[in-house]
Amino acid sequence: MSDSTERRYNFSAGPAAIPLAVLKKAQEELLCLPGAGASVMEISHRSQQFTEIIEETESNVRSLLGVPDNYRVLFLQGGGQLQFSMVPMNLLLGSEHPGAYVVTGTWGLKAEREAAKEGTTVVSWSGAEDGFRQLPKKGEIELPSSPSYVHITSNETIQGVQFQDEPEVGDVPLVSDSSSDFLSRPVDVARYGLIYACAQKNAGAPGLTVVIVREDLLERSREDLGSMLSYRLQAEAGSRLNTPPTFAIYLFLLITRWLQEKGGLEAIAERNQRKAKILYEVVDGSDFYRGHPEPAVRSAMNVTFRLPDKTLDQRFLKEAERRGLQGLKGHRSVGGVRASMYNAMTLEGAEALRHFMLGFEKQQAGS
Ligand code: PMP
Repeated sequence: MSDSTERRYNFSAGPAAIPLAVLKKAQEELLCLPGAGASVMEISHRSQQFTEIIEETESNVRSLLGVPDNYRVLFLQGGGQLQFSMVPMNLLLGSEHPGAYVVTGTWGLKAEREAAKEGTTVVSWSGAEDGFRQLPKKGEIELPSSPSYVHITSNETIQGVQFQDEPEVGDVPLVSDSSSDFLSRPVDVARYGLIYACAQKNAGAPGLTVVIVREDLLERSREDLGSMLSYRLQAEAGSRLNTPPTFAIYLFLLITRWLQEKGGLEAIAERNQRKAKILYEVVDGSDFYRGHPEPAVRSAMNVTFRLPDKTLDQRFLKEAERRGLQGLKGHRSVGGVRASMYNAMTLEGAEALRHFMLGFEKQQAGS
């Protein structure tokens, strides 16, 4: 173990890189939040200072994403995976109205399995057979007659497949696990019933989960549900039914301000596309690197590829680490390499990885 404190290019899938400017601001205010006489972690979650923090965070999320007035923004805990249970607990309308799941990768698979513990579910499309390399094409999703909702995973972090557009589901509420592409591009929130995202990729620190839910769906939360698990009660309490993850919310506030300074989601999406292109061009121009997904559905957030064999994968990862490029190991279920490039990854970082990939391939060809 090294004890170096030098920061390196961090391609970790999550918890993931946070913009340096945000970390510096948090560092500056760590000992004392201006005007609070203490750090943000040491003051009441019902204090005026924290109320201002949570209110500005919500207002920034609303303006960045253009969240319509009939949607509520909740700041919850339990990570992305608690939502796998909370969604069916709150939204399932009984066994004759199953939750329909579009399974495009490991996380969607897990979401469906957890939901099946709470009620009736149906898998309306699955890409499992070919290792989750594709997304459903138009007309391929087979919905039951009146599902309670349709669940998708907008970006599958492990396989690296990302919906470019929402699938057509008519009037059925569309629920999206957007954990790994939240705030990475503009989204038409009105097309969704509910969007959820854990924070530790594009929204800061683990411990916070953001839920954006259409108001009418809150009426579905059953009375007998544990209070902490009820979207309706959480909304009524302004996400302060108990002590919320105050530091994570504060960090998220700094990130929303950073996104605004960067020009908002159009600008950030354009930068994310440029970063992804830098790496996909290397993959496409090479027989050495082979991408996991079909090119049309590749993710701008998680770039997944393999080398000709596992020994080379290992050598690549080791050598990359030595050059200051870290967090590149693919998930154990897919193997190979995964470069996660959330909002905080710079163009310079993507260029550094491209440079390394080209050099490594050349070096192998010559050896
Ligand atoms: N959904 C997706 C798409 C994810 O990438 C992850 C985390 N990698 C999760 C859910 C689970 O998140 P958590 O660890 O916060 O439960």
